[in-house]
Amino acid sequence: QEALDIQRIRKDFPILSSTVNGKPLVYFDNAATSQKPWSVIKAIEHYYTDLNSNVHRGVHTLSQKATDAFEASRKKIADFINAAHDYEVIYTRGTTESINLVAHSFGKQFVKEGDIIIISSLEHHSNIVPWQILCEEKNATLKVIPINEKGELIMEAFKEMLSEKVKLVSVNYVSNSLGTVNPVREIIEAAHQYNIPVMLDAAQAVQHIPLDVQELDVDFLAFSGHKMYGPTGIGILYGKEKWLNAMPPYQGGGEMIKTVTFEKTTYNDLPFKFEAGTPNIEASICLGTAVDYINEIGLENIQQYEHELVEYATEKLSAIDGIKFIGTADNKASVVSFNIANIHPYDVGVILDKLGIAVRTGHHCTQPLMDIFCIPGTVRASFAFYNTKEEIDVLVEGVKRAVKMLS
Ligand code: PMP
Repeated sequence: QEALDIQRIRKDFPILSSTVNGKPLVYFDNAATSQKPWSVIKAIEHYYTDLNSNVHRGVHTLSQKATDAFEASRKKIADFINAAHDYEVIYTRGTTESINLVAHSFGKQFVKEGDIIIISSLEHHSNIVPWQILCEEKNATLKVIPINEKGELIMEAFKEMLSEKVKLVSVNYVSNSLGTVNPVREIIEAAHQYNIPVMLDAAQAVQHIPLDVQELDVDFLAFSGHKMYGPTGIGILYGKEKWLNAMPPYQGGGEMIKTVTFEKTTYNDLPFKFEAGTPNIEASICLGTAVDYINEIGLENIQQYEHELVEYATEKLSAIDGIKFIGTADNKASVVSFNIANIHPYDVGVILDKLGIAVRTGHHCTQPLMDIFCIPGTVRASFAFYNTKEEIDVLVEGVKRAVKMLS
């Protein structure tokens, strides 16, 4: 007995009833970006039809309406992650910008020569490169938590890395390439014993796992709207008030100031201090609609159902000759990554596409991780709550066909 009525849920996502290359679309590239429900699509139309106006600027009614919707959405998002204050929720362009903001502003204020930043072997390029840029600039050192052969962080090694020299730990909550769910609670607790703040890249977590920033006691959290059924071009940086207040602005411009003269500028309060320029108003508002949609279905239900999908896919794919799963962590979310002996992942992807099946192939923006496994990439199927076991059967048949054609 499923807790969710998947067939009814699928009707909320118009793209799911489309065909690709003459076949019903099987969309298994949810970790790259998720599809959008009607409620979000209609909210975008509603914004441009009835609300479009700049925020925090005009005395006129429309501007006030847009501002109210913009701030109401911020509150929904703050509640979604249980932030203590709405103003700890900053609108950005996405996870990438959220991480760059912290690397830039926190880095400028708190990182100096000889300091250490810790990331992990599982990171997306967007949680590697900003720290490399910072470390190069400051003559600081980037250290990387190693993983075991299952794609799990080696926690003893992490704990040994901790010292007064470490200024920040930044790791993903869920690996986009392997699906590993990291022991973030343990990471945060261990880092806090040295008063080291922790940033979580939650781009692959917020849509799969119920998350409470106060309970986790996490210092910074980043995620993207487009991976959680919302619009593209909007993301969130959550930061504890004490850190955000102690950090200098990221960009200068309108909205982030209190007063400006040619001699001196004073900065606005949170969250506006970090929101220079006209924001993506439509996407900010419609991310709130996506949060409503997730809340209606319930993250506990989502987590449980997606877990079943991962288990089912792993079991069915295991029957294929020569298959090797990359990332076999005990705790995984929504991703199955694999290779087949002597076959390039790209070739499998091309054949699956002909069958209407969308998977991702390649390094998934985690080249150093692929290097650890000595592979060029993987075939990755990533699931959402609107996927079904029948679709997984179609994938398994497709992979079998690809193997037959390519070997
Ligand atoms: N981190 C992780 C774990 C991701 O999966 C992604 C997106 N693939 C990002 C960061 C970057 O997100 P965005 O491109 O939306 O900024």
